[in-house]
Parts: sequence; C-alpha cells; structure tokens
Amino acid sequence: MRILRPTRSALARAAACLRDGGLVALPTETVYGLGARADDPRAVARIYAAKGRPRFNPLIAHVPDTAAARRIATFDARAELLARAFWPGPLTLVLPARGAGTCAAARAGLDSVGVRVPAHRIARALLARVGVPIAAPSANPSGKLSPTRALDVARALGPRVDLVLDGGPCPVGVESTIVDLTGPRARLLRPGGVPVEAIAAAIGDLAAADGTIKAPGMLASHYAPRARLRLDARRPEPGEAYLGFGGLPADSAGLDLSPGGDLAEAARNLFGHLRALDRAGAARIAVAPIPSRGLGLAIRDRLARAAAPRD
Ligand code: AMP
Ligand code: MG
Repeated sequence: MRILRPTRSALARAAACLRDGGLVALPTETVYGLGARADDPRAVARIYAAKGRPRFNPLIAHVPDTAAARRIATFDARAELLARAFWPGPLTLVLPARGAGTCAAARAGLDSVGVRVPAHRIARALLARVGVPIAAPSANPSGKLSPTRALDVARALGPRVDLVLDGGPCPVGVESTIVDLTGPRARLLRPGGVPVEAIAAAIGDLAAADGTIKAPGMLASHYAPRARLRLDARRPEPGEAYLGFGGLPADSAGLDLSPGGDLAEAARNLFGHLRALDRAGAARIAVAPIPSRGLGLAIRDRLARAAAPRD
C-alpha cells in the first residue's frame, strides 16, 4: 500500500490501478472511499473481502456526472430534479438498475443501484480518468469508524488496499444522504451530507425507511468506536470522556465537535474526534445533545448506531 499526494501522475497511476481491478482509496467530500471498478465482480469481491462487509450490503456506484449516472440507472422526473439540485454532492439516489456499468455483486444482487456524483475535486478527476463507474464504500473495516483522513485508511486497511490518494481531511465528514426512488413514494434510507429538509423542499416529504429494506443492518451497530457511548448527556459522569457540542462543561475532559455550535463543523469533526478519544484510551464517552435538524440528523444517526449494542 502506498499513500500518494494527488499529483497528475498519481491520478494516472490510480486510474490505471482501478482499470486493472485494483483497490484505490480516494478522498470524497463525505469520507474516504475504497474504490474498485463496479462492473468487475473480482474487483468488487476484493472490496467486500478488504472490509469484511456482508455480501448482502450493496455498494454505491460513483460516476463523474449525471450523464454517466443515466447510463447505469433509470431516471424519473424526481431523480432528474434531485440530480440537478444536489449533484455533484453528498446525495446517493437508489434507482432501477439498467444492467450496464455495475455487476450484480456490486448491487448485492438487487435490480436497483445506488448512484452518486461526488463533488470532491480529486474524486471527480479520478472518475473522469477511469471511465467506468467506481464502487466505493467507506475505506474502513465494516462496522468501524469511517475514515476522514488518508492516515485513517492506512491504519485501518494497510496492505489490503493498493493505493491511497491523500486529499487531506474530508470537508463534509459524514456519508451521503441516501434516497430510494424505486417506489412511488421517495424514501430516506440514510440521513447524510445533504440535509433532508433541502431534499423535501425539492420533491416533497420523504417516507422513512421501514426496516424491511434494502439497507440491511441499517439500525445495527455500525460506526463503532472501541469506547461505549452514552448519548444526549449534558455532562460526563466520573470515568467518562466527553464529546461536546457548543462548549465543554467546566472541568470535563474531552473534545468539542464545534465550540460555536455549528452542525457542519460538528459533522466534519465527528469521526476524527471519536477516533481521538478511542486512541486516548477512553472506555466510555458521554456525548452532548445534538439538534435534530440539518446535518444534525446525520450526526445523530451515526451516534445512535455507534452506541447500539454489539454482537
Ligand atoms: P455505504 O455503506 O456508504 O457504502 O452505503 C451503502 C448503502 O447504500 C447500503 O447499505 C444501502 O443503504 C444503500 N444502497 C446502495 N445500493 C443500493 C441498492 N441497490 N438498493 C438499495 N439500497 C442501496
Ligand atoms: Mg461505511
């Protein structure tokens, strides 16, 4: 595994590696992705193996623009509207698959496909060079904290990845919002980098995911640090580290997601701060209440799953 600065020659090398069926970790605006060509079952199998990801959990296909997305998925009027409003950006659309561009393994055998046009400059440059859709789940072992820096990927996956492109810290810091448009009613499968309120303003209210779905393990333990979490805590109890928001209580030990109470900043810091508290050896972390609006919904979703009982 090599970490490369994203020079032109590094991008050329990464593109060649992907075309040959390799695994390349790439920066996106959400988190670092573990990329492989989505049309190649062997390359896709390497993603599942490197992450220890259950085979029934489908991968999101990343493409450089909406035209490329239309080649792999069927767009209706709602999809066109959302693509125009939010792409490139942290929104994934689940749409009927057209069969081209993604292999069955990437879709976990489903006849739908999750597709996204990322906004990150390096991700887009790489996707444009490769010329095929790239499946890219977060570049971490399944169920663990998502990586927001190249170093996080190197530490968590090491030799399991061929190449890491270092694009610095991810500017959004939480995964994409996922909207399922395969049914008559749009459904929110995961809150993420695009606020749900903005999506609802564009296409009307979203139905909640109903648990019978297509997003296996959605409520199971995920995004988990080593430490145990206690949520909506106004202050730490003895023995707990504190993950604050909008100011730390007097003489508490911990980190603040955003001293000024800014949800975008908190999202950007979320995984890094949890990782830092883990590394500092915290056994238990009390987490401040986070508002349920805008990016706060995505932050609360990740925290709830980080706090969920583990097997
Ligand atoms: P990630 O874990 O960030 O790679 O996102 C993968 C998630 O995207 C899955 O767990 C599903 O929630 C969603 N997804 C991707 N592809 C599909 C699909 N074909 N049908 C339904 N959901 C999908
Ligand atoms: Mg993930």
